[in-house]
Amino acid sequence: MSIDNEASGSQPVNWRRDADCQYVEDPEIFAGRTPEEAEAAKIICGTCAVRQECLDYALDNPESAKGWIYGGMTERERTQYRAWGTLPE
Ligand code: SF4
Repeated sequence: MSIDNEASGSQPVNWRRDADCQYVEDPEIFAGRTPEEAEAAKIICGTCAVRQECLDYALDNPESAKGWIYGGMTERERTQYRAWGTLPE
């Protein structure tokens, strides 16, 4: 996973200093290629201190976040959230 400071002309992404995922041995789990990897990534996001900032970033920068779990949501979940304002049951 790469959080780009220059994405979309946004302000520097200072919150990433506190990102729990920077300590993960295999950051590829945040691609969520299997249900098991996605679940493992979401568990890490669940206790991350900057989860909301991360999710806001991904919602504001969909191209940068494309294909990765951010803020505990997959790309598909973020698309649904953006469209409906909530996740489907
Ligand atoms: S919420 Fe998840 S993807 Fe975002 S910074 Fe925290 S651990 Fe990383």
